[in-house]
Amino acid sequence: MTESGLRDLDAIPLYRPDPTTCRIDLSDNTNAWGVPPAVTAALAASTLSARYPSPYADDLKRVIAGDTGFPVESIVTGCGSDDVLDCAMRALARPGERVAFPDPTFPMIPAFALLNGLTPVAIPMTPDYQIDPARMLSSDARIIYVCSPSNPTGNALSRASLEALASRSSRDQVIIIDEAYAEFAGCDALDLARSYDRVLVTRTFSKAFGLAGFRVGYALGNPSLVAAIEKSRGPYKVSALGERAAIAALTVGRPWVEDRVRLAMDNRSRFEASLVERGLAPVPSSANFVYLPIAGAMRIASGMRERGVAVRAFPAPEALRFTIGDWPVMLEALAAFDEARRCA
Ligand SMILES: *Cc1c(COP(=O)(O)O)cnc(C)c1O
Repeated sequence: MTESGLRDLDAIPLYRPDPTTCRIDLSDNTNAWGVPPAVTAALAASTLSARYPSPYADDLKRVIAGDTGFPVESIVTGCGSDDVLDCAMRALARPGERVAFPDPTFPMIPAFALLNGLTPVAIPMTPDYQIDPARMLSSDARIIYVCSPSNPTGNALSRASLEALASRSSRDQVIIIDEAYAEFAGCDALDLARSYDRVLVTRTFSKAFGLAGFRVGYALGNPSLVAAIEKSRGPYKVSALGERAAIAALTVGRPWVEDRVRLAMDNRSRFEASLVERGLAPVPSSANFVYLPIAGAMRIASGMRERGVAVRAFPAPEALRFTIGDWPVMLEALAAFDEARRCA
């Protein structure tokens, strides 16, 4: 390949979370209770095959259709919702066009934009961690990406702001609403994907469903958007095991998942209250993690790591993000947090 045929990859770092393992890992928002036992059982009972899986995970699509009420033509799956987001950018915008997203947001979004030759446009969130729909709409972006509940801030975006994006966008714009944490929110934007041709909602099996290692995600939207994404995605992105695991999680694994979601929501309130008791101001969360703006975040996180607890730290603005797990684990995290603050 000639040099002019290479994309400029220098601006795109490899994703390298801290590789040292910690006794307690509250850094990545995965299911703290693990893989649903019914999924493990279903996989143990299933036979392996040397054949390819179905090209577009049709069995999984049928189960998602039953779960969401969307027809199969409105569903596209992928190797994690990361893959679906990446393929959506490739399918729905031409090189040189813009992708607008809130700042802060999921760090893969500007990376996927650059990888697909698109221009990332970060639009600051308001002081209360909401989006500014007017600014996003006037950013001349082909794709507007938002995440609700928001990663890293944890809060749900206001219904009015999501409706504004859906109803006031132009016909040639696409609104992507990333609902990686919708199960913990008690509300979602699926109705907007039903009513507006240009709204796409993405979901994942990596968080509430406990299947991050299997890499399965999907999107729901108008069949013409979905068909374009499916073409840009290509066949065989969901492995046979991933498809079986996701189907089991949505069916036989469902009651376990729902119980753990309720536990995470209860522990989230207790954890937020514990931080408030300490005079701190966590952002009220609708996800399975809590975002805490705090001075010295990087130092506190490394102090916690020395005490065996990994959390995610953000340097600017300074903040910590705690995944919510079992209550005894959260108490250990609080103890490590208190000690790390005293010694920081
Ligand atoms: C975790 C996460 C994803 C999910 O990624 P997968 O590729 O499905 O594991 C997507 N969006 C956000 C905002 C996330 O936090």
